[in-house]
Amino acid sequence: MQVIKTKTKLKEELNKLGDQLSLGLVPTMGALHDGHASLIKKAVSENENVIVSIFVNPTQFNNQEDLDKYPKTIDNDIELISDISDRIILFTPEVSEIYPKTVTPKTYDFEGLDKVMEGEFRDDHFNGVGTIVEELFKIVQPNKAYFGEKDFQQLRIIQKLTEIKDIPVEIIGCDIIREEHGLAMSSRNERLSTKMRQKAAFIYDTLKTAKIKFGMENALNVKDWVIDEFKNHDDFELEYFDITDVETLTPMQNKINNVKYRAFIAVYVEDVRLIDNIALN
Ligand code: AMP
Repeated sequence: MQVIKTKTKLKEELNKLGDQLSLGLVPTMGALHDGHASLIKKAVSENENVIVSIFVNPTQFNNQEDLDKYPKTIDNDIELISDISDRIILFTPEVSEIYPKTVTPKTYDFEGLDKVMEGEFRDDHFNGVGTIVEELFKIVQPNKAYFGEKDFQQLRIIQKLTEIKDIPVEIIGCDIIREEHGLAMSSRNERLSTKMRQKAAFIYDTLKTAKIKFGMENALNVKDWVIDEFKNHDDFELEYFDITDVETLTPMQNKINNVKYRAFIAVYVEDVRLIDNIALN
């Protein structure tokens, strides 16, 4: 597998591939696990060539400690990718390659999608995400790009980005891959103790029960129930739980027929911030 660190070299290689073959892009921040692998496998099954990027993007971190502690496992990542296919190019630029002047994000109007949930608690996060993904789209010019529903709000933001910037790429959303006991896979799970990693299954268990309740009760009752569940559990600190419509991500008022809803959650466990979500109908 080719590992490329500069935009110039990547463009050279892309030119060699020509325009005839389909090209898929899977942007990641590394510390790859089976969740990432599922995106990469889907990309390989749908495209002749695939670029996986690994870049821990500083402008999407609002917390320096979170950035500093972000796990880096490049040797394992290379092995994981090589085991999937030899048709993949890995792009792992340095920060100075992506941000040659200042390490600052651009500003986007995501029409409110960025103002709720992750956007409310992580200042400028989605401007940072937009900046790196727009840059990757510019360099790679993929036909399709793959994003996990694990970060559902991010997936909606990327769809909006392609709309407002008129970028001709098909955005493919991929299912959430979970650990055996139900915790959504995340690079951050590595920072949990073995005991808490098991116990954190409570987050998904709560989402599943919230889904059942959503079929029978109004959204506010479900939200209150979730808040109480977490109050009764010392190991977890709930940051937010919201039920929103999947298009606008605005918190639900009254259930409307034919509208799709999703529940979103962010929880601190041993100082590690975990997020998850579930389709409700
Ligand atoms: P990250 O490296 O965390 O930025 O994630 C890179 C991509 O992998 C994003 O599109 C994520 O949504 C996706 N991803 C991360 N974890 C999972 C998971 N457990 N299941 C599915 N996709 C995931």
